[in-house]
Amino acid sequence: MKKPLLIKQIQQKDNYTFSIEWNDEIKQDFRLSTLQKVCPCANCVDEYTGKRLTNPATLQEDVKAISIKSVGRYALQIQFTKGCSTGIYSFDTLRQMSQ
Ligand SMILES: [Zn+2]
Repeated sequence: MKKPLLIKQIQQKDNYTFSIEWNDEIKQDFRLSTLQKVCPCANCVDEYTGKRLTNPATLQEDVKAISIKSVGRYALQIQFTKGCSTGIYSFDTLRQMSQ
């Protein structure tokens, strides 16, 4: 049986990047601006068509995080310094993102 995916540790690497260590020892780095570009909330993605509503050009590469908190045992919510912060990033989504 497969163990559920959990976060063992979250570490800030620099102002723009953090890393997650999963409970299966795999480590992954995430750039905050990259995560904001794939924000899955209803303001950023049309829930019927799946079309992205935010213009990627208006997203800033230097966006930082004010806080990163877990939502239940399955997702993270990131409070960004600017732009949309309402997206819930499930562990599965994070895990599937390529570097
Ligand atoms: Zn959003």
